[in-house]
Amino acid sequence: MLSTLRKIVQEVNSAKDLKTALTIIVQRVKEAMGSQVCSVYLLDPETDRFVLMATDGLNKRSIGRVSMAPNEGLVGLVGSREEPLNLEDAASHARYRYFAETGEERYASFLGAPIIHHRRVMGVLVVQQKERRQFDEGEEAFLVTMSAQLAGVIAHAEATGSIRGLGRQGKGIAEARFVGVPGAPGAAVGKAVVVLPPADLEVVPDRAVADIEAELALFQRALEGVRGDMRSLSSRLENQLRPEERALFDVYLMMLEDASLAGEVTTIIKSGQWAQGALRQVVTDHVRRFELMDDAYLRERASDIRDIGRRLLAYLQQAHQTTLTYPDNTILVSEELSPTMLGEVPEGKLVGLVSVLGSGNSHVAILARAMGIPTVMGAVDLPYSKIDGIDLIIDGYHGEVFTNPSELLRRQYADVVEEERQLTRGLDALRALPCVTLDGHRMPLWVNTGLLADVTRAQERGAEGVGLYRTEVPFMTKERFPSEKEQLAIYREQLAAFHPLPVTMRTLDVGGDKALSYFPIKEENPFLGWRGIRVTLDHPEIFLVQVRAMLKASEGYDNLRILLPMISGTHELEEALHLIHRAWGEVRDEGVDIPMPPVGMMVEIPAAVYQIRDLAAQVDFVSVGSNDLTQYLLAVDRNNPRVADLYDFLHPAVLQALRIVVDGSHAEGKPVSICGEMAGDPAAAVLLMAMGFDSLSMNATNLPKVKWLLRQVSLAKAKELLEQLMRIDNPQVIHSALNLALRNLGLSRVINPAATIQA
Ligand code: PEP
Ligand code: MG
Repeated sequence: MLSTLRKIVQEVNSAKDLKTALTIIVQRVKEAMGSQVCSVYLLDPETDRFVLMATDGLNKRSIGRVSMAPNEGLVGLVGSREEPLNLEDAASHARYRYFAETGEERYASFLGAPIIHHRRVMGVLVVQQKERRQFDEGEEAFLVTMSAQLAGVIAHAEATGSIRGLGRQGKGIAEARFVGVPGAPGAAVGKAVVVLPPADLEVVPDRAVADIEAELALFQRALEGVRGDMRSLSSRLENQLRPEERALFDVYLMMLEDASLAGEVTTIIKSGQWAQGALRQVVTDHVRRFELMDDAYLRERASDIRDIGRRLLAYLQQAHQTTLTYPDNTILVSEELSPTMLGEVPEGKLVGLVSVLGSGNSHVAILARAMGIPTVMGAVDLPYSKIDGIDLIIDGYHGEVFTNPSELLRRQYADVVEEERQLTRGLDALRALPCVTLDGHRMPLWVNTGLLADVTRAQERGAEGVGLYRTEVPFMTKERFPSEKEQLAIYREQLAAFHPLPVTMRTLDVGGDKALSYFPIKEENPFLGWRGIRVTLDHPEIFLVQVRAMLKASEGYDNLRILLPMISGTHELEEALHLIHRAWGEVRDEGVDIPMPPVGMMVEIPAAVYQIRDLAAQVDFVSVGSNDLTQYLLAVDRNNPRVADLYDFLHPAVLQALRIVVDGSHAEGKPVSICGEMAGDPAAAVLLMAMGFDSLSMNATNLPKVKWLLRQVSLAKAKELLEQLMRIDNPQVIHSALNLALRNLGLSRVINPAATIQA
């Protein structure tokens, strides 16, 4: 059963469009269940009717013609009750409805399962049988499992279908909207540039080429390259492999001949497809055919073809990389954006980012916010490999992507972009003004840094200190651990740039979704695994070198503060403090005269919330990492788009935890700040100030907006609002009440300039 399921899903997955996918579904399910009919009805949201979209067994001419409302027929019943229905004698059911055009009267038994994707009923999958037959429990379970697996595939194919089909590369196609999650605020109107991970055939997009001859020549060179590699590999292994084992290389060489794979690729290139796209089509087609074979030996051949495809692709990509051009309004689109991809776009050309995977709390989104680039994350249904070169609009406030936008939408968003530009210009005037509320409360605003560019931006925006310097960023851009000397130089630059303002340097926080290429950590559950302080306490040599570099870098400036990430209890804190003291002693023994800097800890793990007094007593300051704290309190992976709508830093449990941390730290006489993304959200910042945070640390891009908003409210009013919101038990209601309150005060303009666009 499982292998049948797997095969069907695999086949449906690689169907070229929704229609083909549905046809495969009905044929294969009918075969697998041994029934006489299998049909798929999909819910048309416009008419709110279940429309027969594919059938194997009923009259094909009724496809697209027969439909029923949710309160009609058995299909409507399955869809509206969201439950399977298994009837031996369908005609005797009160809800049975007969459609002459389907020839349905001949079928007595009926088994239907709803197709549900992300809580939304998308349709109904039905099998029918002439004779009376009660489908057994196993059959019912099979259909339910099948439809659950197919829901995602159908949703994806539906979304793809809406931008595909007419013309090459989606040109001339009507506007389509794809929903993701907000990554970084702002809107952008631009052109999609799809970037691909190296040598990953599956994600290669289709792309039309004008110069077919050049593309053929490119492919010939790639063939030559791989042939050469195969020959030298074969001769290098001459002494290690038996001749029959080395025959594999001959098989590879054969596949590269014109009569085989190479010939097929060439034919597709001649139709105007670029070499990489042609290669993907041919290879995936062959791989699929091999994978469906029952013979285990032949199935294994699929991996040889995949391998040869990857090798050819690597050559083609090498040649392409040097020719990739970025338009002036590049919107970078990738399955999984990485910080290095952002770095490759020439300065000034990048206006937006879209990542199919990841969520608003992924580190690449944090980076995008710091750089002020509108970003949409988790656009899981976006058929990104088909949209290279087409016009896009991205709305980073709502997390939406529009492909081939209409002229009207384009004008609306161009207005939003212009309004943002003016707002930013208007906020520049605030640079030299302090962040003081209407009733005179002073709220220090600090910045989070990591990139070099953050320093200039922070200074331009009038930051009063660095609340979080993510030291892992310089570690991530290297190919090995930086030496003490290298680190010293990097840290000194940071300390000098802000001197005499304080700079809070966090000790290395890797693991989770922050990987060092030279120190890979492979885990099933990385966010609950070896990350942050756990890694550095297990590697005191890394920790000590880093702290020594920080201490030495601060000589003469004395504006260093050290911050410890991911503390879960006093044992870790004590160990880390012990190591810091040891490093300080060593550095002083070497003749560097520096005072012991203030040391603080991050509250990111719920355990630390409940031990806040014990922990705060041992440090000089506390800083809340609300990104991780929210993730762990709500058990919601900060990177997973599927649960992104559950990730909410205004959840009542998060607000209550924050209050415990503020009160506990103050009870120990220690200042407390917050450096998660929440601090840079203007509306949330009002609440954090009211709670009593002593400073807020955020990305430089948002600092002027937060300052503008806090200067328009009084602390008394903010406290009143907080008290009112803390009594609400529902996160959504908290959001609406907060937005409403700010709107009533006339303060919503910095929150979302795109709020009025109705797409
Ligand atoms: C946090 O968790 O809130 C935090 C600031 O750390 P990071 O986002 O780097 O994990
Ligand atoms: Mg964190």
